[in-house]
Amino acid sequence: MIGSKTKELLKKIVGRERLLDQPAELLSYSYDAYHEEAMPDLVLFPETCEEVSGIMKICSADKIPVTARGAGTSVCGASIPAKHGIVLCFSKMNKIVEINTKDRYVIVEPGVINIDIQKALEPFGFFYPPDPGSMNVSTIGGNVAQNAGGPRCLKYGVTVDYILGMQVVLASGKIVNFGSTNVKDVTGYRLSSLFCGSEGTLGLVTRIILRVVPVPETIKTILVTFDDLDNTAKSVSDIIGAGILPVAMELLDRATINAIEDSARLGLPREAEGSLVIEIDGVKEACEKEIKKIYKKLEANNAVSIQEAKTPKEREKLWTARRSAYGVFAKLAPDLLSEDVTVPVSKVPAMIRKTVEITKKYGLKVGILAHAGDGNMHPMIPADRNNIEQWENVEKALVEIVQAAIDLNGTLSGEHGIGLAKTRFLPLVMSKDDIEFMSVIKKAVDPDGILNPGKFV
Ligand SMILES: Cc1cc2nc3c(=O)[nH]c(=O)nc-3n(C[C@H](O)[C@H](O)[C@H](O)COP(=O)(O)OP(=O)(O)OC[C@H]3O[C@@H](n4cnc5c(N)ncnc54)[C@H](O)[C@@H]3O)c2cc1C
Repeated sequence: MIGSKTKELLKKIVGRERLLDQPAELLSYSYDAYHEEAMPDLVLFPETCEEVSGIMKICSADKIPVTARGAGTSVCGASIPAKHGIVLCFSKMNKIVEINTKDRYVIVEPGVINIDIQKALEPFGFFYPPDPGSMNVSTIGGNVAQNAGGPRCLKYGVTVDYILGMQVVLASGKIVNFGSTNVKDVTGYRLSSLFCGSEGTLGLVTRIILRVVPVPETIKTILVTFDDLDNTAKSVSDIIGAGILPVAMELLDRATINAIEDSARLGLPREAEGSLVIEIDGVKEACEKEIKKIYKKLEANNAVSIQEAKTPKEREKLWTARRSAYGVFAKLAPDLLSEDVTVPVSKVPAMIRKTVEITKKYGLKVGILAHAGDGNMHPMIPADRNNIEQWENVEKALVEIVQAAIDLNGTLSGEHGIGLAKTRFLPLVMSKDDIEFMSVIKKAVDPDGILNPGKFV
């Protein structure tokens, strides 16, 4: 609990209107897109880095847990205030501070929504590549803290690859800055990479300098269907193995396609057992050559149909379909387990077979969705937590899916992170010494463990 004196001090910083303390208000900040909940004692909405620093000085003195929050779309429970205390919501720190396409960077506050960066860059002919499925709502602060990925990260890389610098408020309230607006800068430790993906456990990001890139001359997007899921997955590893690196290769199985069609009627082929959305970009001539090579690989794997988006509208329709997959699956049952294990791309067919086998064994529905080009699997299992037997089966299936990925040389998470969902699995992929080293770093920057406690270490 937070004492009334401390509350008054915090109120002096943010004012009454940027502080929530009523149970009905707090409830909205007790959960994210994962299936657990914990109530915060207070929610604060800072507007400046100095306010964040002032809040942290008070919390550090009183050892109050602080959990940062962007849009609350974490699917691993990273933004749930597991040990209660304060939720620091960054939604009001949402300014795009500077756009400089000549020097290829933007400076943003953490509460800016990913899509707003894309929209702001459009008139300049530039874009910011990381495009999580949640890009219409998730914040750049959340993307940085989770090192978010997305479909086009296959070619362009993930969030950490675009961070030039950042400003961070430490647990003590001290403000530190790393990196610069220079696209090349090796001055000191690359600390922005340490904070990226740390899920708010090491510091609070209050400003980010992001590298941006020019929009390519040509973009080609195709939808391919197969009557066999194995061939669908094999096409992905065949294309990558042939030295072709598309922007994205997204895999959807029959259950996923049908769930999308039931909800949005976008004209996807319901009868297909598997389908791929493949996108390439670059100069026109290179794209023409590349797409021919891709067609050959797809035909060799018995593709049933290949449809090319003819207009930007048609391309957008395909991406809308792909991005809606999580949402439509979430409507099928009260709860949804959206997995994130990742395997080497050559092991994607085996991982899909194993996932189908495991879920079948436990009598569970599954939709296979994957950023298949980089082996990042998102099997979605709709279920009901109140159905105890079914939920126990979900838990058992989860453990077996994780183990199957590890057996195939894979890893726990490709982009969704660890949060509450996967801390228990860390010893499966990290040694005692590896985990101990993370604890050493955590203790050095947050000795009282007040930043997002209950996660990671
Ligand atoms: C429909 C859907 C699709 C998704 N698709 C993808 C996808 O394709 N790729 C992907 O990577 N993820 C995806 N996600 C997961 C999620 O959207 C991402 O992890 C996203 O980056 C979270 O952003 P957020 O603003 O919602 O952050 P939140 O969920 O609010 O917070 C996430 C983490 O960031 C920390 N945090 C937030 N702001 C700060 C800050 N300023 N400083 C320090 N820590 C901070 C929080 O404490 C928490 O640990 C998806 C989720 C949904 C619901």
